[in-house]
Amino acid sequence: MAKRSPKNSVTRFAPSPTGYLHLGHAYSALTAAAASGKGGKFHLRIEDIDPTRSRPEFEDAILEDLAWLGLKWEKPVMRQSGRMDAYHEALKKLERKGIVYPCFCTRADIKAEIARSGTAPHGPDGPIYPGICRDLDPEKSQQRIDKGESHAIRLDMTRAAAIAGPLSFQDASHGTVKAQPEKFGDIVLARKETPTSYHLAVTVDDHEQGVTLVTRGADLFETTHVHRLLQRLLGLDTPKYSHHRLLTDDAGRRLAKRDGDITIRGLRGEHYTPDEVRAMTGFES
Ligand code: GLU
Repeated sequence: MAKRSPKNSVTRFAPSPTGYLHLGHAYSALTAAAASGKGGKFHLRIEDIDPTRSRPEFEDAILEDLAWLGLKWEKPVMRQSGRMDAYHEALKKLERKGIVYPCFCTRADIKAEIARSGTAPHGPDGPIYPGICRDLDPEKSQQRIDKGESHAIRLDMTRAAAIAGPLSFQDASHGTVKAQPEKFGDIVLARKETPTSYHLAVTVDDHEQGVTLVTRGADLFETTHVHRLLQRLLGLDTPKYSHHRLLTDDAGRRLAKRDGDITIRGLRGEHYTPDEVRAMTGFES
């Protein structure tokens, strides 16, 4: 079990409304709420930056299921889809530091370049971007943007890490962790259809909500390396971190929305009580 967190923390649960909550989400939400302690605050944040996968009915169901579980959170609920101006501002700040660049590559371009070069270094999110657009002539890139060519904005990781200098973060299970964002390569910070990214939005919003302790699943541990870097580059506060265990099914597979795993909604339909569902997650307060 993760170590006890400091009391009076500001914590959050940040689900993406792309499906119904399952037992793993319930465990994560219960953990975050309990970690806020008596004098702390527990925020809810709807991470709906992906317009193709997010649906209002899932958001409604999330709020309803969490309330049914007995959770209470600060009002108003933050919705990332309403915060594009804040993400744009953050992106501009990084742009002014000269550490981002437009990338016009399609997935196929990237795949072809990796095949051509014969090397495919992998980061925590998959193959590292091979840098095709990193050194394009800025003037020519601007012309392509002006013509409406689809592009993403990438972080020039080597330069960003160099100007940030050595960084670390505090994790409840791992202690002081040296941040190594370089292992992700040049991450995408924004796309045309979604003018932000998970990494950028989460970093900006944890600061905006005054989060002092981020509790989330161990599957997101690696992302903290990138978030720590963005905090430094944007001049934002650094919370403490606690990455909790992930719930698995009987076969030892991690619970996921896509597997049609048992949802809180489904359990409610089968007349389980909130206490029973809390017990099913294995959560101990
Ligand atoms: N929205 C993310 C998810 O549903 C969680 C983000 C976070 O906790 O940092 O997986």
